[in-house]
Amino acid sequence: MIDEKITSIKGIGEKTAALFSRLGVNTVDELIHYYPRAYDTFCAPRFINGILPDTMAAVEGILVKSASVVRYGRLQVTTAKVKDSTGNLDLVWYNMPYLRSTLQAGERFVFRGKIVKKRGRLLMEQPEIYRTEKYEGLIASMQPIYGQTKGLGNKIIVRAVSGALERHELEREYLPGDIREKYSLAEINFALEHIHFPANEQELLFSRKRLVFDEFFMFLLVIRLMKEAKENVKSRYPFVISDEIREKENRLPYMLTAAQKRTLDEVCADLKSGHVMNRLIQGDVGSGKTVVAVFALLQAAANGYQGALMVPTEVLAKQHYDSVTELLKMLGLQTRTVLLTGSMTQKEKRLVYEAIENHEADIIIGTHALIQERVIYDNLALVITDEQHRFGVGQRENLKNKGAEPHVLVMSATPIPRTLAIILYGDLDISVIDELPAKRKPVKNCVVNRGYRDNAYRFIEREVESGRQAYVICPMVEASEMLDAENVVDYAALLREKLPSSVRVEYLHGKMKPKDKNRIMERFAEGEIQVLVSTTVIEVGINVPNATVMMIENAERFGLAQLHQLRGRVGRGASQSYCIMVNNSDDEETQKRLEILNRSNDGFYIASEDLKLRGPGDIFGMRQSGELEFGLADVFTDAAVLKEVSEEVSALLDKDPVLEREENQELRRRLDRYLEKSCERMNL
Ligand code: ADP
Ligand code: MG
Repeated sequence: MIDEKITSIKGIGEKTAALFSRLGVNTVDELIHYYPRAYDTFCAPRFINGILPDTMAAVEGILVKSASVVRYGRLQVTTAKVKDSTGNLDLVWYNMPYLRSTLQAGERFVFRGKIVKKRGRLLMEQPEIYRTEKYEGLIASMQPIYGQTKGLGNKIIVRAVSGALERHELEREYLPGDIREKYSLAEINFALEHIHFPANEQELLFSRKRLVFDEFFMFLLVIRLMKEAKENVKSRYPFVISDEIREKENRLPYMLTAAQKRTLDEVCADLKSGHVMNRLIQGDVGSGKTVVAVFALLQAAANGYQGALMVPTEVLAKQHYDSVTELLKMLGLQTRTVLLTGSMTQKEKRLVYEAIENHEADIIIGTHALIQERVIYDNLALVITDEQHRFGVGQRENLKNKGAEPHVLVMSATPIPRTLAIILYGDLDISVIDELPAKRKPVKNCVVNRGYRDNAYRFIEREVESGRQAYVICPMVEASEMLDAENVVDYAALLREKLPSSVRVEYLHGKMKPKDKNRIMERFAEGEIQVLVSTTVIEVGINVPNATVMMIENAERFGLAQLHQLRGRVGRGASQSYCIMVNNSDDEETQKRLEILNRSNDGFYIASEDLKLRGPGDIFGMRQSGELEFGLADVFTDAAVLKEVSEEVSALLDKDPVLEREENQELRRRLDRYLEKSCERMNL
């Protein structure tokens, strides 16, 4: 049974199931497709005199004395000392006082953990503790590490996944045999099992390749089938391009760039062509995509149609709504614009639903709330999705279905090379905004270590004094999630101490209520807050041109694409902006990675350099992009597979355009299930 709940697995009760649900896992099938984030390999213990700082190591020895626990404020520190035939090593654990009873003098253990250098001495932090026999059993094996959530640790997930694999009915093979043979792909059930529990790296790579192939295969099949269905479809919403609106393009407080103009020309040409538009606008952060979207929406309104703009977060929806209304005012237009988001009250929503249904609204801006069943549009002719996850294919289709084949515009800031874009967005025509507005000063970058912090605070203080604002990004929300991670709540408190009391510091993180988030963002946009300490929730789309400093703590924990997006939050106005990346790692690779960003502000260049550094097939590196997120596949490092799949899908559809042949029936069934799943996911 495909949709069997995970509670059918032995040992998983309602409580555990609820925790799994937070990870997006509800069924046995979903659990099987919940792939490890990384793998742990256990190496043989080393001699203490041979260990190196900043590495993971295991040592085996005898405890010199029993563990002791000391309290420093909120922190309880447990220390012990282990010795082998070559030397001694200090061990330290934070907030785990209960270890004291295990760690008795004279006992023999294997300790495995990170080696750090503090005050000139090596010590092992937070080591795992094993008995010798147990550890020997683990040596050379690969253990899966899963994405976890509070209360649901790795061990429980590992056990659940084994249970799921046992319960799981075998999949029938659906990839055509000749394709499997040609690319030496693993059998599907083998791949599903060994992606979780590979005996060695080779088995892992073999399994992974099959699953990556499948992800691309299903995805491209859908894209190609959609393309067929989309090509040259006559539109029910013919447009007459309004010259009055086009004229307004020259009334902005700035000149549109040539690239923005060209893109608008292309959009207008599509709209009046009589066929349904399916277009992607690709443009780096800050290239000015929003204004292009707005003019397209205004054309729809001028033709008596409705147009919708859908964005991934509430904060972004609110911001777009504010900037659109402001722009309309400036242009002297009366186009009626409404905002619709999930966190609005029932009453507020009902009013908006009515306004939409009665066509008292021309432009509708919102989150996925826009595609809920309750919303009934009147002549929805244009649908724009901004910063949309490509995996919103189903979602987009859903919004599309709200109208009768409306024109579709997708906007993306992910810098992918044209050859890949053509494959991944094969169902769309592409416009590229390859030019930043003039008079923009490139962001000045620096990569620094922790020691530089106080300088950075003083720098922020000076910028604030001259009327500017700053972002400080921290990777974690709660201190407990990881000890040394900076976290927004504490960090904001710290900054309030470090900065003069006249500077207003607030924080923002993903676990806050949408209303509170919106409020903080609004106040930041209005300049009431000068320093915003935030997690990456502000990563996409946020536009506060007066902000000139982006300080990123623990920069080493972010992928380059993500850092580039974060940096894109500054440098949006005429003033000089700065990006300060605080690197807390001594790792050489990390230095090199950050150096790429330090050197360049160009998203395409960064993506290509990152790829060189990671190399094709690098499966453990930082993932590149949030927007093109597959389960396992990475469009950059797996680009070669993507190209192979693209060719195979074309060949397959040439032979059997709608998959009606007998030998493709299993594939057809699989595809239907894939579509159903992706629609379900979107309706969350
Ligand atoms: P993105 O492409 O990242 O979505 P936005 O559309 O948010 O970028 O635009 C970023 C900023 O640039 C906004 O403040 C916008 O008003 C401004 N902007 C857009 N086009 C131009 C232009 N041609 N000249 C100057 N500023 C512009
Ligand atoms: Mg944008």
